Order: sequence, then C-alpha cells, then structure tokens
Amino acid sequence: MAEVLVLADHAGGRLRKATAELLTLARRLGEPSAVHVGPGADTAQKTYAKYGAHKVYVVDDADAGSYLVAPQAEVLAQLIEKVSPAAVLIPSNAAGKEIAARLAIKSGSGLITDAVDVRAGDDGAPETTQSVFAGSYTVTAKVTTGTPIICVKPNSAAIEASPEAGAVESVDVTISDAAKAAKITDAQPKKATGRPELTEAAIVVSGGRGTGGDFSPVEEFADSLGAAVGASRAAVDAGWYPHSNQVGQTGKQVSPQLYVAAGISGAIQHRAGMQTSKTIVAVNKDEEAPIFELVDFGVVGDLFSVLPQATAEVKKR
Ligand code: FAD
Repeated sequence: MAEVLVLADHAGGRLRKATAELLTLARRLGEPSAVHVGPGADTAQKTYAKYGAHKVYVVDDADAGSYLVAPQAEVLAQLIEKVSPAAVLIPSNAAGKEIAARLAIKSGSGLITDAVDVRAGDDGAPETTQSVFAGSYTVTAKVTTGTPIICVKPNSAAIEASPEAGAVESVDVTISDAAKAAKITDAQPKKATGRPELTEAAIVVSGGRGTGGDFSPVEEFADSLGAAVGASRAAVDAGWYPHSNQVGQTGKQVSPQLYVAAGISGAIQHRAGMQTSKTIVAVNKDEEAPIFELVDFGVVGDLFSVLPQATAEVKKR
C-alpha cells in the first residue's frame, strides 16, 4: 500500500489536533507516515502510533523548528522523490498553505487548499471536497498532475484512533543549509486566554456590531461551552476585539462543529470565513437578517437576553 505523508503540526513536539485529523483521513488513502520537523518527535511518537502512522520521518536537527517554512517544504520534496507517496496532507493554515505552495513548485505537483473532506475516489486516487472563492462554492476536486498535495481545514474530520496501532519506525532525514535561510530569532507568546485557538476549536461563538462593544455575554457563553471567541470585522474595526479573532474573508477561516453568530448580520465577507461550519446558529434581533438564510437554528431576539439564558442552561448540565 502506498504511503500517505502527513506533515505534523506541533509546538515543540506537542501535537495540535489537526495532526490526528490528518492521520485519520490519511488512512482512507493508504498507509500514513508522519513527517516531524523540529524537536519532540520522541514525545509525539505515541500519538503517531495511536492514529495509525507506520513511520515517522524526523528532521534530526535541534534547531530545525526555528527556521521558517522552507525546511518543511524541502523535506517533503525529498520524500516525494524517495517514496512516491499517494498524497501529502498538510494543515490548511497560513504556514501550511505556504509550505504546500513551495512544495507544489518544487515537485511539479497540483495543489488543493481548504479541503473539508478527503477520500479515495472511484479510481482510488484522492478526491476532495473543497471550499473555494472565499467559501462561495463547495466543489469536488482532484489533483491531476504529480503527487496530490492537499491542505485540509482544521475540524474537517472526526478523530479516530487506528484499530491497527502498532510500532512506528523512525527514519532520520537531513535538510540542506539553503533551507535554513531565515530563522525566528525571538517569539513572544500571546497572552493566554485559556480558550482554544480559533481555527482549531470545535465550537466558536462570535460577536458582531450587535454587541455594541460589550463582548461579556459572548465570552461567558463561549466559556460555558469550552469554545473559542470570534468577531465580525465591524466589531474588530470598532476596536472591540483583536484582529486575530476576526472571522471572514480578511480574517480567519473556521470550520467548527458548531458556530454561533451573535449580533452579526451575515455579510458575504463574514460567511466566507464560517459557512463550512457543521452546524450554524444565529442570535439576531432582526428576523430579516441575511444570516438566517444560512443557519441550522436561528433565535430572533436580543443577544443580551438570549445568551445569558443559554449560558445558564449549559451550566446546569
Ligand atoms: P452589521 O452588519 O452592522 O450587523 C449587526 C447585526 O446585529 C444586525 O443584523 C442587527 O440586527 C444585529 N443586532 C443589533 N443589536 C442586536 C442585539 N442586541 N441582539 C441581537 N442582534 C443584534 N466582515 C467580517 O465579518 N469579516 C471579514 O473578514 C470581512 N472582510 C471584509 C473584506 C472586504 C473587502 C469588505 C468590503 C468587507 C469585509 N467585511 C468583513 C465587512 C462586512 O461586509 C460587514 O460589514 C461586516 O461583516 C458586518 O459586521 P456585523 O455583522 O457585525 O455588523
């Protein structure tokens, strides 16, 4: 069975959820192998085994994690040459898309970004469901040239442990000095909020202009659900919430299991960042608000009354 390469998304060996999602999807296409650039491969080994990786390719360079995206693109290009994988799966985030673009050029392969599903097509080749034109269309797409390089949005797959979890063979890979051209010299972590990262969260509760700048009911409801907090551009432009939390065309693209939009009208640019969410709920005073065209459940009402009641209800359970 052909290998399917999965680029690990990790911080010092602490794997992000996207890696387990990609390994789960990779098993539909062939035999998953993880590609680990930077420290912590030993710590991550157990998780690789749990989700069905048979091999882990490790860049055995203590400093590798501090270089920008080039080492990942180079190691994946080397592996495409060496093992002719059935596909390469990469998280569809800003760094992942840059790595994938470099890899596509290096390997002369086709690239699909923002996939929300990956499976084997009728001919056995990878087939994807992809969200395109800022989420305006959902299409079925296949790579027709070279090795399929597929960037998959976080939260696109329910994580499943492999029934065949076993030993993982570790294979060292070296990278060239040319791939180490730019290095991170200092990194300041963001102040911790205790909430999950927006693009990774299974639940996102977002607030818009309708909050009038008071995000407390949005944050309290989010915290009762263990959710991340998002914001519309109107709220961000007004200075009520940081740009790092903006959802939409010029913000982040999220695809959680549950997306709650409170006091958000549902402009096309906001939809572009959230319409692939599995279940969408809106709370809005205006029953004609365009967001209601999109939702699975809608509540016509004042968010300052609806959200505290919902929070109290969740806390009772
Ligand atoms: P409004 O459209 O003003 O809607 C506020 C809503 O709150 C209304 O529907 C109102 O009925 C409701 N409301 C008011 N009070 C309450 C209450 N007490 N309880 C319940 N409901 C209440 N927007 C984004 O979000 N993300 C983007 O990335 C983005 N990128 C853009 C890029 C470009 C190039 C452009 C031109 C625009 C972009 N926008 C983006 C802006 C977008 O067009 C909208 O202006 C914006 O999304 C509106 O934000 P909003 O829904 O919070 O505000």
